[in-house]
Amino acid sequence: MGESKTVHSPLITYVSMLSLLTLCPPFVILLWYTMVHADGSVSQTWDYFKQHGFQGFKNTWPKPTAIAWKIIACFAVFEAVLQLFLPGKRVEGPISPAGNRPVYKANGLAAYAVTLITYLGLWWFGIFNPAIVYDHLGEIFSALIFGSFIFCIFLYIKGHLAPSSTDSGSSGNLIIDFYWGMELYPRIGKDFDIKVFTNCRFGMMSWAVLAVTYCIKQYEEYGRVADSMLVNTTLMLVYVTKFFWWEAGYWNTMDIAHDRAGFYICWGCLVWVPSVYTSPGMYLVNHPVNLGVQLAIYIFLAGIVCIYVNYDCDRQRQEFRRTNGKSLVWGKAPSKIEAFYHTTSGEKKSSLLLTSGWWGLSRHFHYVPEILAAFFWTLPALFSHCLPYFYVVFLTILLFDRAKRDDDRCRSKYGKYWKLYCNKVPYRIIPGIY
Ligand code: NDP
Repeated sequence: MGESKTVHSPLITYVSMLSLLTLCPPFVILLWYTMVHADGSVSQTWDYFKQHGFQGFKNTWPKPTAIAWKIIACFAVFEAVLQLFLPGKRVEGPISPAGNRPVYKANGLAAYAVTLITYLGLWWFGIFNPAIVYDHLGEIFSALIFGSFIFCIFLYIKGHLAPSSTDSGSSGNLIIDFYWGMELYPRIGKDFDIKVFTNCRFGMMSWAVLAVTYCIKQYEEYGRVADSMLVNTTLMLVYVTKFFWWEAGYWNTMDIAHDRAGFYICWGCLVWVPSVYTSPGMYLVNHPVNLGVQLAIYIFLAGIVCIYVNYDCDRQRQEFRRTNGKSLVWGKAPSKIEAFYHTTSGEKKSSLLLTSGWWGLSRHFHYVPEILAAFFWTLPALFSHCLPYFYVVFLTILLFDRAKRDDDRCRSKYGKYWKLYCNKVPYRIIPGIY
C-alpha cells in the first residue's frame, strides 16, 4: 500500500497530491468556461479574470442546480441498473496482491449499446433533447465535482469500516488513504463493483454520451454537423466502442488491478473523464471548422489506425496471458520470460512476460498509438486555439508517469526477472528514443 511512497520522493508525492486535490476542480470549471463562453481562447479568459479578479472567478463557477443533479442521478441510476441486471458472461480478474480473484459480469458492450440507443431514441422521439445537457454543462460539472468528492469520502470511510475483501489497507496517512484509496475491489453487496461503475459505466460511458451530445448541440445550433465534428465524434465513439468491446480486458489493467479506489482514480473517472477527455468535442460545438472531404478522410483513417494498433497491443498481451503463452504473436510463437513473485501472504506465483510483438518494441509501446489517436481526434479543431490540445498534452504526461509507475511496480514485483525483460526490451515507451 502507499504506492506513492515507492515511486516518488515524499515531498514530490505530497506536493503533487495536494496540488491535484486543489487545482483539478477549478481547472474543470475554467476549461468549461473557456470552451463554452470564451470562444475556446485562453487569453480571453485571462483578460476576463484580469478585469474581474477572484470575484469574477467566483461568478463563473456555476451552482449545481436541481436539473444538473437530476440529469446526473438519472444517468447514474440507469447505468447502475444496467450493470446489475443486464446478462453477461462470468469473467475472472487477475489474482490480486492478497491472492484473491475478483469475479465480474461482462455486460459492458450491451450496456453501451442500450445507453446510446436509449439516448438517441429519447432525442428522436422528442422525449428529451440532449442539447439540454450541453446547456447545463457547467452546473453538471460543478455538481459532479462536489458529489464525487463526497463519494470519495464515502470510499475512505468504507475502506476503514467495511472493506469488501482482504485487498484493502491503510497507509496510516489520511491524505494518502483518501488520494490513492484503500480498497482495491470495493463492492456494494456481492455483485456491484464500484470501480467498474466509476471507471467504465459512468466515466467511459459519459464520454460517449457527451460526444453525441456535442454533435447534436451543433446540429441544433447550426442546422448541420461540420465534417470536423463528425471526424471528432466518430473517432471518439470508435475508441469508446473499442473500450467496451474489450472491457473485460480492462479489468486486467493497472486502473483496476493495481490502483485503489480513491480520489486519483474514482474522482478522475467521475469528473475528469466527462470534462477533460471530451473537451475537444466541447470546443468544436461552437467552432464548426470545415476540413473538406479529403482532409477529413485522412485524419479519420490515421485515427482509426492508431485506435486499432492500441487495441491490438492490449489484445496481444491478453491473448498471450489467457493462453498461457501459446497464442501466436505476429504469426510466430511468442518469445517470453517466466517471472516468479510472491503475494503479500508469501505464496510463490509466476506470470508470463511477452517479449516479442508490440511488447518487444518497447515496454509500454501501447501508449504511443493511444496518444496519437487523441491527437488525431483533436486535429479537426485545427490550430486557431491551443486549448483543445490540452487533453493530448495531459494524456502524454499521464502515460509517461504511468509507464514509470508501472515499471517501478513491476521491478519490485518481479525483481531479477523484470531486469531480464529490461535488458531484452530496453526502451520504456518510444523504441530507440525513450
Ligand atoms: P496494462 O495494465 O495493460 O499493462 C501493464 C501491466 O501488464 C503491468 O502492470 C504488468 O502486470 C503486465 N505486463 C507488463 N509487461 C508485460 C509483458 N511484457 N507481457 C505481459 N504482461 C506484461 O497497462 P495500462 O493499464 O497502462 O493500459 C491499458 C490500456 O488502457 C492501454 O490501451 C492504454 O493505452 C489505456 N490507457 C488509457 C488511459 C487514458 O486516460 N486514456 C490511461 C491509462 C491507460 P502484471 O502484474 O499482471 O504482470
